[in-house]
Amino acid sequence: MDKHKVGLTTTIPVEILFASDNLPVDVNNLFVTAEYPEKCIEYAEQTGYPRTSCSWIKGLYGAMLEHKMKKVIAVMVGDCSYTHSLMETLKLQGIEALSFAYPYDRDRQALKHEIEKLMKALGTTWEQVNLVKVRLDQIRRKLVELDRLTWQENKVTGFENHLWQVSSSDFNSDYQQFELQLDELLSEVNSRKPFKQKLRLGYIGVPPILTDLYQYVENKGAYVVYNEVQRQFTMPYFVDDLVEQYALYTYPYDVNFRLQDIQQEIKKRKLDGIIHYTQSFCHRQIDDIVFKKYIDIPVLTLEADRPGILDARTRMRLDAFIDMLLNSNNHTEVNSHIATNNSVQNNKDNKNSKRLSCGIDLGSRNVKMAILSDDGIEDLRSFNTIDFYRDYGRKVGDVFQIDFDKLNLEGIHTITSTGYGRNTIKLANANQIAELEAHLLGALYQVDIDDFTLLDLGGQDSKVIMVRNRKMLDFITNDKCAASSGRFLENMATVIGVPLDELAQYYDNPVELNATCAVFGESELIGRIAEGVSKEELSAGINYTIVKRIEPLLLKLYSDTVVFTGGVANNCAIVNQLQSRIASKIIIPKHPEYNGAIGAAYKK
Ligand code: SF4
Repeated sequence: MDKHKVGLTTTIPVEILFASDNLPVDVNNLFVTAEYPEKCIEYAEQTGYPRTSCSWIKGLYGAMLEHKMKKVIAVMVGDCSYTHSLMETLKLQGIEALSFAYPYDRDRQALKHEIEKLMKALGTTWEQVNLVKVRLDQIRRKLVELDRLTWQENKVTGFENHLWQVSSSDFNSDYQQFELQLDELLSEVNSRKPFKQKLRLGYIGVPPILTDLYQYVENKGAYVVYNEVQRQFTMPYFVDDLVEQYALYTYPYDVNFRLQDIQQEIKKRKLDGIIHYTQSFCHRQIDDIVFKKYIDIPVLTLEADRPGILDARTRMRLDAFIDMLLNSNNHTEVNSHIATNNSVQNNKDNKNSKRLSCGIDLGSRNVKMAILSDDGIEDLRSFNTIDFYRDYGRKVGDVFQIDFDKLNLEGIHTITSTGYGRNTIKLANANQIAELEAHLLGALYQVDIDDFTLLDLGGQDSKVIMVRNRKMLDFITNDKCAASSGRFLENMATVIGVPLDELAQYYDNPVELNATCAVFGESELIGRIAEGVSKEELSAGINYTIVKRIEPLLLKLYSDTVVFTGGVANNCAIVNQLQSRIASKIIIPKHPEYNGAIGAAYKK
């Protein structure tokens, strides 16, 4: 039989393909390593795949057609709920699709039946398959060695570990060549010096569609020394029976089976934290609930949709996660400190006489500035973001030079920026810190307690940070939509025609509003106005919408004290409603909306 390419939608018993003289091609690898993977997705969308479906599936569809593949083995059970439709639409294009299923309960008889069905369809025997298995097991052992060199000797990067292990789903269609290249790498790796790591991370979930995730975390000193699913592709079990081998493969079966493997590797590899990657519109995102409940080291859940580099928000979340882990590993210390004079003074009176530190929170709507000296807060200022960039400086080369003369500020000794904008606009001569760290420091500076939950509701996003012994232990952020942010309140206040200050006074008899989304909330409000609901009840209902969204987050990251910051903390009605629903004592610092800028200025 002539060798011909057979596409795979995910890992299947690849021994059968080699034994039957076919060339396995994992179409995921074809898609994600394409020069323009976006084109594969666009092609699928032009055919009619919804925008709100998984980009991996769309990429598989486009890549199969672009590479003019004639046959595919589609895993119908145990991988992806979209595969049925993928198979149907590929058939429409004249592609032959064979199905394979991993039985949910890992029933050996059922799995053997599936394996034999595939052997029959491809024309091979147990004898031939077992011969290939012996050969592939030799290569699989070398991959296990590569993995050991990653987590035990720290000589292989997380990306290399990912790439080689993920490629074992099809051995790049040529296992002899694969082994030669792997041998070369192993001998080169053995002569490397161990990497210096500050943190050891694990990566769980489907392989990333993002291109620079590993490099980004490694640049921060955090190394990925465990790639869960990719390691599973290598079949590191070494049993003689092929059916047993694929019954031990954790990914296609129940999530608890995966969890046992993950927990064992966390211990063995001494991991500091886990990145759980989830793909937009993937049903497996729901597994995050289980992982968050049972994994007992910090877990950061990341989500991405399209292929490409990390966006600013995801970088911010990674920064915060890494900072949090570094802090909990005692790499940095936050000193107990309270300003001796916590009042705002006129900077003009103090210029030339004090060492001033300037913290700048570069928000998308406002730029906040805090000037601190050893005596306390010297000055606080807020600017419209556009006005700030237009009126108080200019870009020189790659950096923005602030015109401190125009701001009438002298004697600034250090500048530290934070906020969403810090990654896009670099300030000249400024250090940068992650937003969550800035907010934690701001709260410690303003309130000076050791254990609390920080709730920050800003203009565009919300953050909840659990703090123990002055260190960040866990956090939840919502930066995807405007719900529970100041923007939501502003929009809703405009709809009912009540000034924001007035809206913040009403908390009694809140009208029930179901839509927490800023867009859908508008139409619901209009309906309630038409029903004749009073502005007081409408306002209270709008405030209560925020409370309903925040309450479960505060319960999840519970502390006896909640420090409430951000502009929304000035809304008395929300504070009142929240206090009536939670047992924790709510503290609002003196300058809640400047908390991030104060924290940046406080950063030593
Ligand atoms: S990421 Fe999820 S939805 Fe997408 S192909 Fe994989 S299993 Fe399916």
